[in-house]
Amino acid sequence: MKQYFEDLLELGKPIWFDETGHPRFCKFKPKRVHNTDACEVALVKMYCECCLAEFKVAVTCDVPSNDVLLSDIIKSGKSPFSGELPNIRCCKWDGKSPIQVKVIRFYKLKKYHIIRSKLVFKRKRKYEVILTPDGEVIKDGV
Ligand SMILES: [Zn+2]
Repeated sequence: MKQYFEDLLELGKPIWFDETGHPRFCKFKPKRVHNTDACEVALVKMYCECCLAEFKVAVTCDVPSNDVLLSDIIKSGKSPFSGELPNIRCCKWDGKSPIQVKVIRFYKLKKYHIIRSKLVFKRKRKYEVILTPDGEVIKDGV
């Protein structure tokens, strides 16, 4: 189970969660994810299977690394998100699975810079796909 960030969640309803389950209250931007070496960043919309609480959760892969690219996972017909929901204690039942809905944002690193604020990410709408509840791609992005 992911960490429950009580002090942060007391501040209100998060807009999105990073890959580690940290609640975020700012607008989602690919530079704001937890992974400072991310080469691809996706934001996936999903619901708690138990209470239908909505989550927007970031997923990333590294560069350079042995990670499979998120774009390749999507091309193979799968959601880039796997794992468990951020912990907001929405239900008593632990181990809830997500009902996946859509990759709502997808970005690819276009230009690396040692200074993080100067990284350039480009949005790639073709990877913003609709998903089945268990994370299969059912419709390509526009
Ligand atoms: Zn729930």
